[in-house]
Amino acid sequence: MKRDFVYSTSPAHIVFGEGKSAATGEWIEKIGCHSALVLSTPQQQADAERLAAQLGPRAVGVFAGAVMHTPVDVTEKAMAVVRQTGADCLVSLGGGSTTGLGKAIAYRTDLPQIVIPTTYAGSEVTPILGQTEAGRKTTVRSASILPEVVIYDPSLTTGLPVGMSVTSGLNAMAHAVEALYAQDRNPISSLMAVEGLRAFRESLPQIVGRPHDPALRAEALYGAWLCGTVLGTVGMALHHKICHTLGGSFDTPHAETHAIMLPHTAAFNAVAAPDLLAPVAKIFGSSVGGGLWDFAKAAGAPLALKELGLSEADLDRAAGIATERPYWNPRPTDRQSIRALLQDAWEGKRPAD
Ligand code: NAD
Repeated sequence: MKRDFVYSTSPAHIVFGEGKSAATGEWIEKIGCHSALVLSTPQQQADAERLAAQLGPRAVGVFAGAVMHTPVDVTEKAMAVVRQTGADCLVSLGGGSTTGLGKAIAYRTDLPQIVIPTTYAGSEVTPILGQTEAGRKTTVRSASILPEVVIYDPSLTTGLPVGMSVTSGLNAMAHAVEALYAQDRNPISSLMAVEGLRAFRESLPQIVGRPHDPALRAEALYGAWLCGTVLGTVGMALHHKICHTLGGSFDTPHAETHAIMLPHTAAFNAVAAPDLLAPVAKIFGSSVGGGLWDFAKAAGAPLALKELGLSEADLDRAAGIATERPYWNPRPTDRQSIRALLQDAWEGKRPAD
């Protein structure tokens, strides 16, 4: 077997364990800071206020205005609060939207970030920021965007509603599936991807029935860390390209779009990368696409793009945008093949074995 790879590791501190968010104040001090601005969405404002109260004088304010897709006007409002409060670091409590706001501020100020993730999106361990301005989503990658400290506290995820837990988990799993065939994959990224998929295979179906079980939540969050880490390490391909197209141009919801597309993009690429995707078939049973689809269906995930309000008439344009400037992919893509794949995903068909 030919071994040929580059492996670079992330400089972030990863702190994992039940109740570990109680150590946020200690981490503020460990990174040499004194005055944190706590960030959240409006929905998680009460949690952010509680955290700020726990931090005492180490918190100088709460900005609870984070929203999906990191709009630049929201970032500017948060920047004004950073200036007013004299904050010297950021504590982002929430999912990918809150992490995105923290990253957008860090990109502009180089302030250190402590992220406490409460979904499985994985943004907290990537140096990537997607932001929107005038209806256009652009992506930047920079060392200043990567959060310095991530505190994974499973007890903060027990309240994540079951439906969101399932779609967020499938969102994370998509990072791992694409990492397995990434052009710049390395032995560590592949090990992490397989372990991340296994962790979700073990935990996600059971979370549906027992969402408050701390051991299941810990296993899923561990999977989220692994899957997010590979997203930040290697390049993504067709799956992420299609999801960015649908989210960016048709405003479909982020995690749900990933959940629906994953079995279809994995089945499409399994034709070109059967050996690299063999672990997926082994973990989920059946074929690569069929196994993932059965797993998503059993967990109650949405299965059809039409459920997200996308019209059949949009599929031609979506196929055009997704193939205009394609990402590298193990199987060549063209407008016709991607249009057919989108049709199957729109209808919610199970990929053929
Ligand atoms: P989200 O952050 O928008 O959260 C969805 C909703 O769930 C919000 O209202 C949030 O407050 C609420 N929520 C979060 N955790 C909760 C909990 N434990 N209990 C109850 N409610 C909770 O959703 P997301 O899917 O985590 O993030 C999506 C965003 O992240 C998108 O904008 C996407 O582009 C971005 N993202 C970026 C990267 C990256 O590497 N740059 C990676 C993944 C996702």
